[in-house]
Amino acid sequence: MTKITIAIDGFSSTGKSTVAKQLAKYLGYVYVDTGAMYRAVTYYAMQKGLINKEDFNKEALIYQLPNIEISFKFNRYKGFAEVYLNGENIEKNIRTLEVSNFVSQVAAITEVRQKLVEQQQKMGQSKGVVMDGRDIGTVVFPNAELKLFMTASSETRAKRRFNELIERGDDVIYEDVLKNVITRDYMDSTRDDSPLKKAKEAIEIDNSEMSLEDQFNKILQLVMITIEDYE
Ligand code: C5P
Repeated sequence: MTKITIAIDGFSSTGKSTVAKQLAKYLGYVYVDTGAMYRAVTYYAMQKGLINKEDFNKEALIYQLPNIEISFKFNRYKGFAEVYLNGENIEKNIRTLEVSNFVSQVAAITEVRQKLVEQQQKMGQSKGVVMDGRDIGTVVFPNAELKLFMTASSETRAKRRFNELIERGDDVIYEDVLKNVITRDYMDSTRDDSPLKKAKEAIEIDNSEMSLEDQFNKILQLVMITIEDYE
């Protein structure tokens, strides 16, 4: 079967990664969570004391970018690839609300984006990839055969993220999660470099009222139609 590139963009906590992982598993494709890469750089900046609530030393982060090596390793027990920062598995560390609160500032830096986009393009060059993020259909793979744009109401999304964090055992309150979702969407959509926006040809999917199964089936159908078109 012809291999295609599937670009999934959208607002935060729209369930992009859940459906992207399911699709990759079903199709035997590689899944790349580009949000994890921006989170990894943010985690690095936090560890090095370059970003906190009062201050962000952007120049130092840009200077240190060559020291940041991000990689993915497939965890067969979990069924997806986990993210590593300079050889250390940081999959769990990057999913905190604290990282979510800083990540949009880091993702707005052009030098950070250039480095990560270059790596993403390399990871997807052989096709057979499902990549999710904010600029995949617009910047990383403007020629992707299938582009999806996921949306859901802010409340639905904040509830999902809140439940995930509570399940992990994190001590968070719903209002803080909702605030983060709204602020991050605003910052991601209004930044100068590669703002979050729907690519012209992207198919919009509002999953506020959809079950995971319905969503998967709908998207799989779109994938199959697209593959047929390219065969
Ligand atoms: O997808 P996730 O919520 O993990 O993404 C975290 C953040 O990384 C986003 O809020 C955004 O600031 C940034 N991001 C980005 N471009 C991407 C993926 C994520 O700017 N392709």
